[in-house]
Amino acid sequence: MIKRSPDDLAVFGGPVAFDTALHVGRPNIGDRARLLGRINDLLDRRWLTNGGPVREEFERAVAALVGVRHCIATCNGTVALEIAIRACAMSGEVIIPSFTFVATAHALQWQEITPIFCDVDPRTHTLDPAQVEARVTRRTTGIIGVHLWGRACDVDALAEIALRRRLRLLFDAAHAFGCSYRGRMIGQFGDAEVFSFHATKVVNTFEGGAIVTDDDHLAARMRLMKNFGFAGEDRVVALGINGKMSEVSAAMGVTSLESLPEFVAVNQANHDCYRVGLAGLTGVTLLAYEEAERCNYQYVVLEIDEDLAQVTRDDLHQILRAENVRARRYFYPGCHRMEPYRSLYPAAGRDLPNTEWLARRILCLPTGTTVSTGEIDRVCEIVRTAVTHGAEVHDRLGRTAPRPLGTL
Ligand SMILES: *Cc1c(COP(=O)(O)O)cnc(C)c1O
Repeated sequence: MIKRSPDDLAVFGGPVAFDTALHVGRPNIGDRARLLGRINDLLDRRWLTNGGPVREEFERAVAALVGVRHCIATCNGTVALEIAIRACAMSGEVIIPSFTFVATAHALQWQEITPIFCDVDPRTHTLDPAQVEARVTRRTTGIIGVHLWGRACDVDALAEIALRRRLRLLFDAAHAFGCSYRGRMIGQFGDAEVFSFHATKVVNTFEGGAIVTDDDHLAARMRLMKNFGFAGEDRVVALGINGKMSEVSAAMGVTSLESLPEFVAVNQANHDCYRVGLAGLTGVTLLAYEEAERCNYQYVVLEIDEDLAQVTRDDLHQILRAENVRARRYFYPGCHRMEPYRSLYPAAGRDLPNTEWLARRILCLPTGTTVSTGEIDRVCEIVRTAVTHGAEVHDRLGRTAPRPLGTL
């Protein structure tokens, strides 16, 4: 049914818009027959992991797409980050944004390196280079930038700081597979960049990740590390971990890569559909992607200005959930408000005003190959009805001023 008035909204007793839930990050699956063919082949070979041909094929394909010499496929993106951090000999303090998935911080803290949370530019949502510079101390050994939503951080400015202050520079490119920065593919920058191929990402290997770099020595070190430090059958030459990608994951990866243009085209069409459907709504801004760059469009990011929209981001979240639309409040409440960081650095929020501001405003909406434009039209209609009647809706949801983050 068409939902024109607040009474039509499920949160106020109207019918639920979707029988089955719409998810953010529902997996894209490529050609099933080709995937199953590859899985049959690897079963016939009985070569399930450890230097198998499908993983090598996947690594070659990723390196070619990104335009780098080395790709090291891993069991997931977090272990890839941990390996890259260790291979770069980061220690002491490393500067990262707090406005990211918690794995960026955990990958450091797990090896007892202190993540120093830095604020982001409220416009780009990525590290503010001036703030990075201000956080460099004698203990600082590196910077990890995050290409949030697939939009590159200020790579040139961060590279300049890293060079001048003699810091290592990594990028968490978990969102940015297939995206470019100033016409060059993301993956080519810093000492190394890390992708995630988790099931929710645009290309997935069930679980998986990869480190890409043009640095031969770093690549050799990381290859050893991801396989227990084995340099030969009985020869362990360094501390390592098990970070290997299995053949079945690589089979999914190779198959997904074949469909990447289609996944991106669907995401882009979905993004266009959201843009049209939400056009002109006061206080609701759809995050735009740079037309001149390549982009995977895997995130549909809304910024809600509660003063203008008269509904809060959390109101909209609640309204959509009631309709079976599982919108997500990424990356609320910010790493610095999650444990163990919250206890370790109770005052961190003071220095992160833009992070706190964004964490209250952002709502990610469902997209990907499982979401149709017809469904998107209906999601937009729900948002439109809620915002058009913003003051009334907010009132009826029984909220006064939105809770300050500090009371969480
Ligand atoms: C998904 C993600 C990761 C972690 O990747 P996994 O493959 O799930 O371990 C790290 N950083 C960011 C920004 C992510 O979105």
